[in-house]
Amino acid sequence: MPQKAPLLLSSIVTCKCPRCRKGRVFPYSAFNLFGFSKTNDNCPNCGLKFEHETGFFWGAMYISYAFSTFIMIVFGVLAINLDWSFAKIATVLIPTILLITPFSYRYSRILLLYLISPNRHFDNKYL
Ligand SMILES: [Zn+2]
Repeated sequence: MPQKAPLLLSSIVTCKCPRCRKGRVFPYSAFNLFGFSKTNDNCPNCGLKFEHETGFFWGAMYISYAFSTFIMIVFGVLAINLDWSFAKIATVLIPTILLITPFSYRYSRILLLYLISPNRHFDNKYL
């Protein structure tokens, strides 16, 4: 009986390999302060090379920029509507940005791998 394929959305959320949806892209937890940015060179399950060319993950910087811009817009709208002072904006915004940095870093790479990368499509033979 063939194995059931992991869902695309759950694979993205859990940062799994885009080809087999089982291997981890990142070896450490996002909460590991010194290890959250480490990315596996290859998928531990199917062997897919994640950075298929030098500088491939530079493209993730643009996705991360979009995340940051979105956060800034949300905070800007909140600050205007709630009539926050500059000190209050800085007090709330700076820790928020520091807290989301690992997630922004990871999900920008994951989205790049899933959405833009050629030859990274799901393949049943790696289940
Ligand atoms: Zn894989």
